[in-house]
Amino acid sequence: MTSSKKNNKTSNENEENDVTVVVDGRTSSSSLTFDAVLASIKRFSLESDFELDLIRQRRFLHETPELMWNERETASFIKKELEKLGIVYEDAAEPGILARIPLDGDDDDDGEGEGGSGSGESTTTEKNKIAVLLRADMDALPVTEETNLEFKSKNEGKMHACGHDGHVAMLLGAAKLIKKVLESGEEILPDEARRGKVVYLLFQPAEEGGAGAKKMLESKTMRDMKIRPSTAFALHNWPYAETPSGSFGTRGGTIMAGAGTFEITVTGRGGHAAVPHKNVDAVVCGAKIVTDVQTIVSRKTSALDSVVVTISTFHAGTVSNVMPDEAKLTGTLRSLQPETFRWAMDELSRVANAVGLANGCEVEVSFASREVYPPTVNDAKAAEFAKRVAREIFGKEEGKVLDVAPVMPAEDFSFFANEYPSVMNWIGSYNLDIGAVHPLHSAKFILDESILKNGAAAHAGYALGFLALNSTKF
Ligand SMILES: [Zn+2]
Ligand SMILES: [Zn+2]
Repeated sequence: MTSSKKNNKTSNENEENDVTVVVDGRTSSSSLTFDAVLASIKRFSLESDFELDLIRQRRFLHETPELMWNERETASFIKKELEKLGIVYEDAAEPGILARIPLDGDDDDDGEGEGGSGSGESTTTEKNKIAVLLRADMDALPVTEETNLEFKSKNEGKMHACGHDGHVAMLLGAAKLIKKVLESGEEILPDEARRGKVVYLLFQPAEEGGAGAKKMLESKTMRDMKIRPSTAFALHNWPYAETPSGSFGTRGGTIMAGAGTFEITVTGRGGHAAVPHKNVDAVVCGAKIVTDVQTIVSRKTSALDSVVVTISTFHAGTVSNVMPDEAKLTGTLRSLQPETFRWAMDELSRVANAVGLANGCEVEVSFASREVYPPTVNDAKAAEFAKRVAREIFGKEEGKVLDVAPVMPAEDFSFFANEYPSVMNWIGSYNLDIGAVHPLHSAKFILDESILKNGAAAHAGYALGFLALNSTKF
């Protein structure tokens, strides 16, 4: 049920605003539970101390940003907040954290390992064991903050310029909202709707190039998860004019590109710059590679498909009278479609090697220096469901829940999306009034904190809304 469901052609994307997701075969009582759960999440999210707490958490994280694989203080902060809520957690690809909230309070997840062959005296059947995964990334960037915020980064040269501090706060907020619903008694979420259901909260390190998502999936903790998540959900703040604060955007199919960073080494034979015929010129060969790989996009990719090939650095030689032995080029490759992405990686190697052959140089192309991120492909039904949830949280008026276009940046949430039917979403955060207009990764980036409560509610609503419908499928 994984990859075969990734249908990029989301037939009715444009009409979706009028479409209520068909909850086929389900009793209307589960739909009523869905409505009650969403209404109470929305209500709890509007309590003023809830928002203050989110801002407190986010500001602490903003002041203490940590780079990929070093999010230690961040992780210990998260653990303390989870403990306050009585939520159990385990390390997964440290400093990654996998926390879980069993809706029936029956936490048997650390029982006798895998298998377990079910049965026993429990009334929970395999059938109603259902889990949802909510994910936040937690790393900062090697950027020196240029804002005047009173809680600006205290860690020189590091900044939460991608807003992952807000992502963590929103997921912690979701944990709190879920606990509140569970503690509110049966009339919101009846006992039988809780049995066997689990929400996993995943706090992921190293999104900014370290493929933390992939490492978490490979960790023993995640491999041993007792219930395979039926769906995964993530939010990214989106500080661009098309998604103002107060809006939510997503789409079925590809939402973010695949990205690979490559390095090309061209080896010729150096010598005196005045006698090129005795040498093999790596500079000329490298220059031809720069121009020839442009044809991958301009002549070999359909105009309806999307690929970017950029050579970003070219280094060769030291002085003007010596022809160097070697030229080194680096760049980035992006594509929205998984097949095109794989093809473009192969084509880049093929073209570079062919140019090398024609010019008598050895050429080596490597994608190893950084992790390759596949395109992030949203499951069409998960995206529809996310919009249904978002309409309850962000509002049903026009402009609140948007169908967005795909973008060329990449995200390692794609690894989860390859594993479970998933949805990556934008939480609009462009706000002219407070100067939240700078792009992600900018040293001037400002996160609009007013979005946090809706983000927390969207996370919680997606998880409990899905579980209330009592099916492993949408
Ligand atoms: Zn980023
Ligand atoms: Zn990010």
